[in-house]
Amino acid sequence: MAEKANGRPCPLCGESMSHRHCKYVCPQHGVVYDCSDTFY
Ligand SMILES: [Zn+2]
Repeated sequence: MAEKANGRPCPLCGESMSHRHCKYVCPQHGVVYDCSDTFY
């Protein structure tokens, strides 16, 4: 339960993504998900 609760792992590289406003940002790939995208 000590995970960084900042978001989901990137589906491409597994890095923890930051959740900024409406976006998930991977440090490697940039914005991966946007709230206007459909994602699980
Ligand atoms: Zn990534």
